[in-house]
Amino acid sequence: MPLLLHNSLTRRKERFEPIDPAHVRMYVCGPTVYDYAHIGNARPVAVFDVLYRLLKRLYPKVTYVRNITDVDDKIMAAAKESGEEIDSITVRTARAYHEDMAALGALPPDIEPRATQHIPQMIGMIGTLIAGGHAYVAEGHVLFAVATKSDYGKLSGRSRDELIAGARVEVAPYKKDPADFVLWKPSAPDQPGWDSPWGRGRPGWHLECSAMSAEYLGESFDIHGGGHDLIFPHHENEIAQSECAHGGKRFVGTWVHNGFLVVNGEKMSKSLGNFFTVRDLLARAPGEAIRLLLLKTHYRAPLDFSDEGLRQAKGELDRFYTALRASADIEPEGGETPTGVMDALEDDLNTPLAIAYLHEMAGDLNSATDAAMKRRSKANLLYGARLLGLFATTPGEWFRWQPAGAATVGETEIESRIAARVAARKAKDFKEADRIRDELKAMGVMLEDGPKGTIWKRVG
Ligand code: AMP
Ligand code: ZN
Repeated sequence: MPLLLHNSLTRRKERFEPIDPAHVRMYVCGPTVYDYAHIGNARPVAVFDVLYRLLKRLYPKVTYVRNITDVDDKIMAAAKESGEEIDSITVRTARAYHEDMAALGALPPDIEPRATQHIPQMIGMIGTLIAGGHAYVAEGHVLFAVATKSDYGKLSGRSRDELIAGARVEVAPYKKDPADFVLWKPSAPDQPGWDSPWGRGRPGWHLECSAMSAEYLGESFDIHGGGHDLIFPHHENEIAQSECAHGGKRFVGTWVHNGFLVVNGEKMSKSLGNFFTVRDLLARAPGEAIRLLLLKTHYRAPLDFSDEGLRQAKGELDRFYTALRASADIEPEGGETPTGVMDALEDDLNTPLAIAYLHEMAGDLNSATDAAMKRRSKANLLYGARLLGLFATTPGEWFRWQPAGAATVGETEIESRIAARVAARKAKDFKEADRIRDELKAMGVMLEDGPKGTIWKRVG
């Protein structure tokens, strides 16, 4: 089956045709590093991680670029409020972001450019746009002249009037046209800034992505992604800048946008204050449960976040890991991603369907009677999960996980109580054996007696 992706530019599901099948190139807008990532920010990371894994499976070479925005007014505001140096905020937040996304099982991108390390490229691009008549200087700012791009608005599908009326377009006296947007803006002496032909200043956010994608992926590349909120103005403006700076050459073939993660119907965002950071959630659930929760909904649909949903995702993984633990001594046989999973993912990343197949395979593994069937279904399950970035841990580790701050009972203690229970059973003191089992249960440790002795897992 060919890979089909929904392209926001054409508003259709299309067959994905890379510019160069020997080298697929993808850019995803990364975080602005001033605060911990919330679970809404993690949604594109999980979605594009699956797309990256799938592309790597289908093509010989894939370059995935995800930037870090480390110069931005929100970062400046955070520094002013806390008194912490800007560099310290961005370095600390980027590190936390890496840790959090790794905990969700996301592979790091191949290249992770930082905006502040690409200022000369941005200044170069602005120079080209001015020379080409697409940008002008006004009061220390450089603005992109929207009227010079006849198909401006093609991605968001907005008419010019709608664009101007849009609340996100800032009206300023120095703009020739209210829809024009900033490429460069002046910096006060206490603000971060770089020398440029237009005075000391800093780049506009949209320009950062145009310059960094051109640097690492070239003037035209295959896939550009991000959350739905980035379509306008961010991606619309990236198209305008890049296509005008590159002689009208098509910027991106396929635009992929994930839907919002919502809480009670409202988009999760820092400004609304209705957010949970990934960090907080990692204290309550294993990273893989958060990942599964993010992938259980198709990426274009809204995802309603709830504690119950997270609990269910954890429960589903408990079931998977139980099947894997019960088949620990089975050597998987065969080495192919099962067709069901592959077809589902190739159909515009249908992760919920792929996960449904995994459940079916876990069922097959549980019910298989002969050894060959067991080996095959185990291999199917493991290969299918790999493409989704699941089962990154061992059943042993999975069942040892416990929430932060839980009344803990250490592993040595658990083992010694299990030994005491075995001794009690040997001595036919079943009352004592049950007491030990109940005591452990109260501490969140479940015992399971099997042919190979007693195994334990943490629950809760
Ligand atoms: P930001 O740091 O706000 O620029 O966001 C980083 C990424 O997270 C962008 O791709 C956003 O589109 C995405 N994003 C932010 N909030 C949400 C949300 N509630 N649901 C899904 N994606 C989001
Ligand atoms: Zn961007």
